[in-house]
Amino acid sequence: MVIGHTECGAASISSETIINHLLQRGITRETIQKQKEMGFDFDHLFQGFENSKTSVKRSVTLLKEHPLMPSGITIKGFVMDTSCGRLDPVGLS
Ligand SMILES: [Zn+2]
Repeated sequence: MVIGHTECGAASISSETIINHLLQRGITRETIQKQKEMGFDFDHLFQGFENSKTSVKRSVTLLKEHPLMPSGITIKGFVMDTSCGRLDPVGLS
């Protein structure tokens, strides 16, 4: 199950924000640069998203199509409404 939720703080995240937090917590620019060179893709990993439904769809598709995912595993997406706790299924179409 992939479960997103409404009013998600991660929606407005950016690689810039994350890197600034890392710097504030004492991680050096050199370390961050090294991680980038080793293939840690900050921009790709911390890109935020426009809405939870789209984000859940993207994650479900990624998991379903992943080469290491065994066949026969059911993967479904939902968005939880944080105001009432209701889970709404997210179709892929
Ligand atoms: Zn969230």
